[in-house]
Amino acid sequence: MTPHAPFALRDTMIAVLILGAIGLTAPARAAPVSEAAAKSMQDSLVTLDTHLDTPANFSRPGWDMMDRHRVEDRSQVDYPRMVEGGLKGGFFAIYTPQGPRTEAGDRNARDAALIRAMEIREMVAKHGDVFALALKADDAQAITAKGKRFVFMSIENSYPLEGDLSLMATFQKLGVRLIGPAHFKDNDLADSATDAPEWHGLSPKGREFVSEANRLGMMLDASHSSDDVLDQMMALSKTPIILSHSGCKAVFDHPRNIDDTRLKALAANGGVIQINTFSSYLIASPKNPDRDAAMAALEKAAGEGPMTPDKEAALQAELKAINAKYPVPKATFEDFMNHMNHALMVAGVDHVGIGADMDGGGGVVGLEDVSDYWKITRRLMEEGYSRDDLEKIWGGNVLRVMRQAEAYKASLDQGR
Ligand SMILES: [Zn+2]
Repeated sequence: MTPHAPFALRDTMIAVLILGAIGLTAPARAAPVSEAAAKSMQDSLVTLDTHLDTPANFSRPGWDMMDRHRVEDRSQVDYPRMVEGGLKGGFFAIYTPQGPRTEAGDRNARDAALIRAMEIREMVAKHGDVFALALKADDAQAITAKGKRFVFMSIENSYPLEGDLSLMATFQKLGVRLIGPAHFKDNDLADSATDAPEWHGLSPKGREFVSEANRLGMMLDASHSSDDVLDQMMALSKTPIILSHSGCKAVFDHPRNIDDTRLKALAANGGVIQINTFSSYLIASPKNPDRDAAMAALEKAAGEGPMTPDKEAALQAELKAINAKYPVPKATFEDFMNHMNHALMVAGVDHVGIGADMDGGGGVVGLEDVSDYWKITRRLMEEGYSRDDLEKIWGGNVLRVMRQAEAYKASLDQGR
């Protein structure tokens, strides 16, 4: 034959290999989708984010959920921007930073969490014309159908419950439906992903915490917990586990991210990973001890005494100065999509969603606040995901797990 044949064959093989590789990372990119088409799709879906740290703003002087704020003012979620981005609701977090594991520490954490729960309910009560408290999975659809935004409640860090697990029932009555044991530090319940192993997973009390969450029909959240905690939760829990705001270790190796083996186990167990937009979990950021020290001092100052408008302004000016002096590389929308697409490839479309950690450190270039959420829909449409797929990713998967938690509770209630 001709001398070109082997080259042609080689080129074909290379093409096959390249196409194969593309096929492994994402579905083939379809034609571009217009902003109008993406927004119209977004508006037609029941969309939720499983980790909104917005309640921390509810007690900020002069801050109101109905005003449109700016990212520069450390705000990423409010009613006007939820409408702009097509976000119908989500899990509003009762977040408590881990403090001293003493009786006094536990009591202070308990009080802070109870007040935060009240503040969430108060926000909904104050703006009942556009918001409604959601207590069961079906409420998401029902509240959306009424043209309102739904507010689920979650607990990030169960430090407030350390001293008395019977408080879980109290918080369940207040509306909490998603609960995670730990945050940045180990506590009496479980090890943190970002601390040295103390219990090598759940403590004995942490195991009680898991069965109590099951009994109360609350979903368990393993974001921020160590890998051992996730493994033990999957083994112990009667219902699937949620990672309310996490990422993929295969894309960027960080303790807050999950490896592919566990991602597959999570999916096999029926659980869901909700992808976050926390820059330093998405891409590498060079170590900068000076910046870390400045930020630690800022956080300490922020936690001391009551927040006043003057103090707030001073803290913001200081944050601006730190960012100017020690700039850090910020992840982009593409970095976020790399984690998203990897999770979709490994876990499948039934086990992935969105928990962007807005108002809690989330936000990347191109996805700065909830008003940008329609862009995720546009990209997924361009990548060939169907309306059915989008419905699952934007909340259907989490609501499925929530129904399982509700059904397990109902089965116990019936047996009594
Ligand atoms: Zn978090």
